[in-house]
Amino acid sequence: MSNNGIVLEHACLGHSHTETDTLTCSCCSPIWKYFLSPKMFENQHQSDRSPLSEEPATQIFRVKKGLNGLGHIYTLAGGKDVSVEAIGIQNGRIVATGTYEEVKAAMPDCMSEQSLESGHTLIPGMFEPHLHIITSAVFNTMVDVGPFEGQTLRQGYTRDFVIESLKDYVEKDEMKWILGRNVDPSLLKGNKVFNESTLNEASEKKPIFLMNSSMHVGYVNRVAIERVKAFFAEKDEKEKVAFLDTCDGILKELPELGPVLQVIAVENPLNADRLHKEIAGIFSEASKRGVTSVLEAGLDPASVEKGDLGPSFIYNQPAILKSIAENNCPVRISAALAATTLADFNDNIEGRYTLNTGNELFNIPFIKILSDGSNQGLTGLQFQPYECNENYLPYNKVGEPSFDQDVSRQTNIGLFNYGYPIEYDTLIKKIVDNGWSMIVHANGDQAASRTVNAFERAGVTKATKELRRDRIDHASLLSDETLEKMYNLGISPSFLIGHVGYWGWAFQQMILGAEKSQLLDRCQSAISNHDMRITLHSDYSVTPLGPLRMMEQAITRIMEGAPDMPRPNNDPKPENETLSMTSSSFPVLHKEEQISRFQALKAATYDAAWQCHADQWTGSLEVGKCADFVILEESPLTYSNPTYGVYSAFGMRDIKVLETWKGGVKRYHNTEV
Ligand SMILES: [Zn+2]
Ligand SMILES: [Zn+2]
Ligand SMILES: [Zn+2]
Repeated sequence: MSNNGIVLEHACLGHSHTETDTLTCSCCSPIWKYFLSPKMFENQHQSDRSPLSEEPATQIFRVKKGLNGLGHIYTLAGGKDVSVEAIGIQNGRIVATGTYEEVKAAMPDCMSEQSLESGHTLIPGMFEPHLHIITSAVFNTMVDVGPFEGQTLRQGYTRDFVIESLKDYVEKDEMKWILGRNVDPSLLKGNKVFNESTLNEASEKKPIFLMNSSMHVGYVNRVAIERVKAFFAEKDEKEKVAFLDTCDGILKELPELGPVLQVIAVENPLNADRLHKEIAGIFSEASKRGVTSVLEAGLDPASVEKGDLGPSFIYNQPAILKSIAENNCPVRISAALAATTLADFNDNIEGRYTLNTGNELFNIPFIKILSDGSNQGLTGLQFQPYECNENYLPYNKVGEPSFDQDVSRQTNIGLFNYGYPIEYDTLIKKIVDNGWSMIVHANGDQAASRTVNAFERAGVTKATKELRRDRIDHASLLSDETLEKMYNLGISPSFLIGHVGYWGWAFQQMILGAEKSQLLDRCQSAISNHDMRITLHSDYSVTPLGPLRMMEQAITRIMEGAPDMPRPNNDPKPENETLSMTSSSFPVLHKEEQISRFQALKAATYDAAWQCHADQWTGSLEVGKCADFVILEESPLTYSNPTYGVYSAFGMRDIKVLETWKGGVKRYHNTEV
């Protein structure tokens, strides 16, 4: 065990080894820090701050009969399916809900009125309960070679697509390096082998670096390898990058990614204006998709000089986000402080921060712990080995090229970021003893099991559920036993539901196998059998922002990555594409875990506010709460696309968001409608 790092009990790609360094996966990944300098945040640019925020409206919203029928207002009051005729807002708050006459009586004379007709639907502002703001902003400056196009899987996501996208960029870009983000070999159609020679096809002149969407792995071409070697040779530190001679262009984890990023940060420095623009872009995208509150799931607590990232490095991420949140931001921000080690907690958090002392604009209710890696990256900690090798070829499948050849390597069960049980249990107990609530990232079934056991040994019980509201996030693979323990400990799950919609097919067909994939994102079991309040998250930028999309995926559990799947309705179909699959044969991952439209809406609003310790301000439209709401063109509770038969919720992600209001101020207005 080292003094400053943590020990990775790492069994990846069939070998077991111990590595000493900090974390993997986009949660809490320290990778983004290489690109930042303290100067970037010294004087935030004037354009980021409007001198005066707009005055909150004094206004009534009322349901009226239009050409195509009535509109709707769903308040979610008390977590129930409640609809009203009108709501009134003033000074950024809800002042009345009920019949039009009741609301009118409660409002001052001088006010405006807006009617909701023809199915237009007003619901509470939706939550994104787990995303990464600054990390994503850094990576959003790079070329998008990821598997998504808007909120759907990219058609023709192949190695050729990645290579051609990079080639375009090589031609027109002035930058020294070509940087790409979110590449995901597990979702590539056809050949999934991805290495140095793949990238050499894109350029033999310019250095290329791509980041895998899991942030666990990076890829470089030959020019990049030579460039990095030369950089360190000049400094007489050749041995630092000796791994480059055998890496085949694949960089694993921070010890290998770090030195390469160090060179890129020097040769291709990130411009502060650009970074601020990307941060603002994330918030306006969220607002556009109906989000009024977000939770940053990995805020770096350090605000002291840090020597471990090369030149002395001063920054204060909590202060940056707080300042953004308090200056006319389209969303409310809450955050979980990342604790990587016990020493980290002692030095950077204990005595420096206090739990839940913020306000409705900015609050820090959690400590975040990252227990394992990612399942699609084959690094989530499992009880049983993964079913495929690092090129996503399934083991033991008759007729597959990998048949028989790799059986002895079928030992990879993923990784755990802590010594277990002592180091992990000690950290969790210390945080619990300090009275902090926790979000624990756990993807593999064994990681989730270790996590509930650690909470149990720390003395957490159901009795403190309301006070603590601990979460296991992603909670990808939960056995009945783990679900039952979570219930007994008052822990609730937040699901990265794209694991079902986007990766479900890959999990079922190659990564986990059919039987184990049944344990993915058990939304209905959590709600019905274990009395839990669940939420859905994007882990942006792991998957696109969009609560309606997440609701749809939880309702249908359709595996969009299956061959020949049609795309949701409003998405323009490429020419010549015929719908080869009928809705009766849509591949669904574990039908029994589907949830209802109302359960999904509650997860995105009322229960999300509760999970984020924000229910005193948001989550439902009740008198005294913030005037945060969304007006949709159509109700998600009745949305139905008859083309898709029993899967009529397919395409719900395309319901148009007409307006998004936060604190009584209209933050987004859809001008295309
Ligand atoms: Zn490794
Ligand atoms: Zn995570
Ligand atoms: Zn995360």
